[in-house]
Amino acid sequence: MPIKSNQSSTRAVHAGSQRHNNFHTIPTPITQAATYTFTDTAELTEFMHQKVWGGHDEGFREEYGRYGNPSMDAVEGRLAALEGGESALLYASGMAAITNFLLASLPTGAHIILTDDCYRRTRQFCMTYLKRLGITTTVVSLGDYDGLEAAIDAERTRVIISESPTNPYLRIVDFARLAAIGKRHKVRTLIDSTFGTPINQQPLAFGIDYVVHSATKYLAGHHDLLAGVIVGRRSAIAALRQAQGVLGAVVAPQTAFLLERSLKTLALRIAKHNENGLRIATFLEKHPAIERVWYPGLASHPDHDLAIQQMQGFGGVVSFTVKGNHTTTSHFIDRLEIPYIAPSLGGTESLVEQPAIMSYYDREPEERLALGIPDNLVRLATGIEDAEDLIADIEQALEGEGAA
Ligand SMILES: *Cc1c(COP(=O)(O)O)cnc(C)c1O
Repeated sequence: MPIKSNQSSTRAVHAGSQRHNNFHTIPTPITQAATYTFTDTAELTEFMHQKVWGGHDEGFREEYGRYGNPSMDAVEGRLAALEGGESALLYASGMAAITNFLLASLPTGAHIILTDDCYRRTRQFCMTYLKRLGITTTVVSLGDYDGLEAAIDAERTRVIISESPTNPYLRIVDFARLAAIGKRHKVRTLIDSTFGTPINQQPLAFGIDYVVHSATKYLAGHHDLLAGVIVGRRSAIAALRQAQGVLGAVVAPQTAFLLERSLKTLALRIAKHNENGLRIATFLEKHPAIERVWYPGLASHPDHDLAIQQMQGFGGVVSFTVKGNHTTTSHFIDRLEIPYIAPSLGGTESLVEQPAIMSYYDREPEERLALGIPDNLVRLATGIEDAEDLIADIEQALEGEGAA
C-alpha cells in the first residue's frame, strides 16, 4: 500500500513507488529492458484482454519499452501526488511534454492563446510548426486578462498556455482567474510550472486543467538529465499516453531512475533554493551597483501580492540589471567564482547568464530592448550552496566593477 500523506516531503519520498517489490529494495530497480516477456500465449491473451477492454492505463505490467518502464511508473505516481493531480505522464524532455500534448490534442484549425514572456521554444513550436498544420496562435500580454478573454474564439480556441513564474522577469499568473476564464469559455488551461515546482505552487488546486514541467530543472535538480512531465485528469492523461506510444518521446529507464532518486530530496532542495533566492534578491536590491531586481518574494516585484497568495516559496531564480553596459555586465559575470556560466536552472550548482548573449545573440541590441532584454540584464539561478558564500562572491564581483 502506498503511504497516504498530504505533506510534500513525505510524498516526495514515498508516493508512486510500491512499498515492497519482489527484490526487497527501497529504490525501484532499474529495468534496463527494451521489451518484456510473456510466459505463454494464455498470459498474453489475458494481458491483451485487460489492455483492450479493462481500461487500464498505468501501473499495469510492462509490455514494450516505448509504452513505459517501472521507474517511469514510480515517477509518474509521485509527481501526480505532488501536484495533487489524478495522473501524470513522463516524457523525454520538457519540450517533448509540451509538443506532444499539443500535437496529440489539437485538431486542425484549432487556436491557441499563449501569454508573452514564455519559453522561446514553446512559442517557436506554436508559431512555426503548428502553423503549418493549420493551428494558429495569439500571444497576449501576461496580466492582461481582458485582452486574453477577448482573444478567445468560441469556435476554435482550445487551450490557453501560460508560464508562472515566467522567464526572465518571474511574472506570476493569477491561477484562479485564468481557470475561471477557461471554464467560462470551455477552453483548457495549461501552466508551465517549471519555475514554480510542486513544492512552491499547485496550479491544479486553483482549477487549472494541466501542469507541465521541464523536469530537467528543479525536479531532476542536478544538471544531469532531461525529462518532462504533464499532470492532469486521468482520462486526458490516458489519451496522451496512447499518443506517446505512437509519437515515442518516452523516458529511458536509467533517466527515470535518476529522476525518482532526485524527487526524494525535492522538498529539501527547494527550501534551500527559496532561501538563497530571497536572501540574494534582498542583498542585491540594497547594493548601490545594482539598478533593479526582479524576484517575486520582494515587495518591489509587480506580482508580489499574487505571489504571496498562491505560492509557498519563490524559487531560486533572481533577475537583475547592473549599473553599466554590455561589457561591464559581462565583466561582472566573468568575475563570479561560484556560479557556472550555463543555460538552465534549478540544479544544485548556481548558474548565471547574460540573456543578451545566451538567449538573444541573434538579435540587434535595439530589438533585444524591444523584447525587454537590456544588455545589462543578468539571470542568476541559485543552487543549493550557502547563501553567505554566494553573496560574498557577488559582492567581490560587483566591487571589481567599481574599481574598473
Ligand atoms: C527548460 C524549459 C523548458 C524546456 O524543457 P527541456 O527539458 O529543456 O526540453 C520549457 N519550459 C520552461 C519554463 C523551461 O525552463
